[in-house]
Amino acid sequence: MRRADGPSLPRGGDLAGLARRVVVLGIAVGAPIITVTWFREGSSDPWVRWGYPPLGAALVVFAWILVRKQQWAIRAALTILVLLEALWIVIATGRIADAPDAETAWASLLPTPLLGVVVCLIVGFLFQRTRTALVHGLVFAVLFTAVVAATLSRLPDSGDYLWVSTRYGVYLGVYLVLLLVLSRAKEHVTAAVADAARADATASQLRDMAYLDELTGIANRRRLLDELGFQSGLVSDSHPVGVVYFDLDHFKQVNDAFGHDLGDRVLRVVAEVAGRTVREGDVLARIGGEEFVLVAPATDHGQAVQLAERLRQALPQELAVAVGVRVTASFGVTELRPGEPALSVLRRVDELMYGAKAQGRDRVHS
Ligand code: GH3
Ligand code: MG
Ligand code: MG
Repeated sequence: MRRADGPSLPRGGDLAGLARRVVVLGIAVGAPIITVTWFREGSSDPWVRWGYPPLGAALVVFAWILVRKQQWAIRAALTILVLLEALWIVIATGRIADAPDAETAWASLLPTPLLGVVVCLIVGFLFQRTRTALVHGLVFAVLFTAVVAATLSRLPDSGDYLWVSTRYGVYLGVYLVLLLVLSRAKEHVTAAVADAARADATASQLRDMAYLDELTGIANRRRLLDELGFQSGLVSDSHPVGVVYFDLDHFKQVNDAFGHDLGDRVLRVVAEVAGRTVREGDVLARIGGEEFVLVAPATDHGQAVQLAERLRQALPQELAVAVGVRVTASFGVTELRPGEPALSVLRRVDELMYGAKAQGRDRVHS
């Protein structure tokens, strides 16, 4: 698990969000109950009359922090939690001290103050790391039990109730162990989710490395061969697949005259311009130094020739604007045949492209 300075929410945005929603729900349910209890019992029970308003105020402040100032939420949660724990001890001991005998005193702790202790333990696990929450919870449970037992012991006939309060202290210990197990399980799930996300990112990075051309960011030769293999299984009269191959003209001279870096920029602009020409579902690949191939599904021979012609006209103009050098290209165009191996169609369209070179370059040959 991650180590960080200071307290923080459990790792993983989803779990942090879930913890926040749980607390907001708790506040939404708790606030009306506190208000109703205060109106019903406040006049007869001084602990409700004086204890509940600060409790309600703390909940309202905390709800505001969760909604408006989430960056304060952790510290606010822990501060309010410690204050509530102190308030709970004060309320419990106050009620016991007010009672005429041990039986009435014990009855006054059930159920609200004891339930409040359990709620404090749960909230501690929501906002702290497991180990911190365990130590915090242990200190609170032991302190609560000890103070209750000590206050009870001053009342007449307290013997039985000292035993009962110790037993409840042990129950609190059992709750803590259960919370520990749940919290550990939650940490394992969080870690597993984070590992899965990392593995996913690595896998997609490896996929990109295997299938993308580093210089231009378009597909590489391997990706092109895969696509041709896939399309040759789909191709039919009703689903023609056009294949366009183009090679820049006299590109060596461009490198020699203007430098290799400018040559690289030319290649990137060619990929960008060609990328704008293709449709969704087409695959544009750079398969060698200045050789590009476009696979266009649902495109017949005539449409593929038109596409190549558009690109032939656009490239020198766009390159002149973007890089300041007019570079033309020679194109070969063919259609993929059903079941044809990828290398076979590449060889054919490469030969067609060489036909265009032989006829004087800057043309489409099919
Ligand atoms: P042709 O019209 O017959 O195609 O002439 P050409 O000069 O384009 O053809 P040739 O195959 O002789 O040269 C291709 C050149 O492409 C050689 C090399 O300088 C250049 N080249 C290959 N890969 C890269 C690259 O990644 N970046 C740059 N800048 N140039 C490259
Ligand atoms: Mg060339
Ligand atoms: Mg070449």
